[in-house]
Amino acid sequence: MMIPLSLSVNIPTTNKPRLVVIGGGFAGMHLIKSLKQAELQIVLIDKNNYHTFQPLLYQVATAGLEPDSIAFPLRKIFKHQKNLFFRMAEVIKIDPAQKTVETSIGKIPYDYLVLAMGSKTNYLGMEDVKKYAMSMKSLTEALDLRSLMLQNFEAAILATDLKERQSLMTFVVVGGGPTGVEMAGALGELKNHILPADYPELDLDKMQIHIIDAAQRLLPTMSQEASKGAMNFLQKFDVNIWLNTKVALYDGFTLTLDGGKQIPTRSVIWAAGVMGAAIAGLNPEVLDKNNRIHVDEYSRVQGYEDIFAIGDVAAMQTKDHPHGFPMLAPVAIQQGTNLARNLQHLLNNESLNPFHFHYLGVMATVGRNQAVVDLPFVKFQGILGWFIWVFVHLMTLVGFRNRVVTFVNWVFSYLSYDKGIRLIVRPFPPRT
Ligand SMILES: Cc1cc2nc3c(=O)[nH]c(=O)nc-3n(C[C@H](O)[C@H](O)[C@H](O)COP(=O)(O)OP(=O)(O)OC[C@H]3O[C@@H](n4cnc5c(N)ncnc54)[C@H](O)[C@@H]3O)c2cc1C
Repeated sequence: MMIPLSLSVNIPTTNKPRLVVIGGGFAGMHLIKSLKQAELQIVLIDKNNYHTFQPLLYQVATAGLEPDSIAFPLRKIFKHQKNLFFRMAEVIKIDPAQKTVETSIGKIPYDYLVLAMGSKTNYLGMEDVKKYAMSMKSLTEALDLRSLMLQNFEAAILATDLKERQSLMTFVVVGGGPTGVEMAGALGELKNHILPADYPELDLDKMQIHIIDAAQRLLPTMSQEASKGAMNFLQKFDVNIWLNTKVALYDGFTLTLDGGKQIPTRSVIWAAGVMGAAIAGLNPEVLDKNNRIHVDEYSRVQGYEDIFAIGDVAAMQTKDHPHGFPMLAPVAIQQGTNLARNLQHLLNNESLNPFHFHYLGVMATVGRNQAVVDLPFVKFQGILGWFIWVFVHLMTLVGFRNRVVTFVNWVFSYLSYDKGIRLIVRPFPPRT
């Protein structure tokens, strides 16, 4: 089909079929990279002009890494890919009847559409938590979190009321999955090694860290050994671990648990859930209860011939994964590369290959020399796990510069017990 001159978005006309990809995360990026030679015009739309390496967001939030180390400009990633056109915009709606996507910069027609928008924070319907808690799904949120934590310490120094000071020095992480565990561990390191030097006027022994989860154990999606290991490591940091516990309410000052227990705190970090970041316009029946899009084994959205979904936003149900694959980077990467092969097959009128997931393992770190690793055939913890965690994260970061800067930062932190990026980069809020 010949794409007509776009109504509003300036994209070159072409005789090639146009593939529009929404989202330059792990799924979209690997899909597009694998289509370098394809006879397609590829239009990538993302609301950010960079790819974010989300597994290390917690390090930005806890002053371990600069934001630039875990992000990479999308135009730079694809600078040698001649069939790719990037447009920075937010997609608002899809119109499958007209085969267009509506964006903040106008309409863009497509022949094939790939939805790779990832996920967003799920506050489980708790509006108060959404209003007052901090989440960690983007670079800006991670930076905001870093500022909030440091601002609370600055405010704690000024506080003359001991209860107020305590609440400013109390940090609650909600969610005992890998993100929550890594965050609690990083806070423990700040408490032990960094903050006492920065705030000698404060008694850092009084800093409290809590982690709360509704499940019976931490890291419920990992092995029992990993859960126990994470628990031991966090206990070394004096982290208070609340299992089988749900959050009932948070008003910005006091967190109330479902049993009635109250924790006065100004810092609640919400790592308790994510949901698909689906966009309006599709038949609502293709959405599951977690706002993910039902797709078949070829990543095709149910009921649509030319629309596909990959990564976190896709719910591909299989016998082993009746609720869809877990929201993990390797799933997104592998779905992206499999769909790239299938799009080539579609163009060549060949049959499509179903998606098979190659499980590579899961890991989480809880501070220096402490990590838990579940690989397909072996599980281990401690310093070996930590070195593997460091290696894997360095190797999967996008961009040589980012790897070098991150490596230097980590070596510096390891040797000096310091984290160098303790800047507050948002206006100091009025004292209340
Ligand atoms: C804090 C944290 C820690 C994590 N740790 C791990 C880990 O240790 N190991 C692991 O395997 N996985 C981890 N994950 C999960 C992993 O990051 C995701 O599974 C992965 O990023 C999913 O890739 P994706 O391409 O589907 O989505 P994403 O990487 O989220 O990319 C989605 C892209 O779509 C863009 N976008 C979204 N909506 C729109 C719109 N409407 N218009 C335009 N653009 C849009 C976004 O800007 C983004 O660039 C972690 C996630 C978080 C948040």
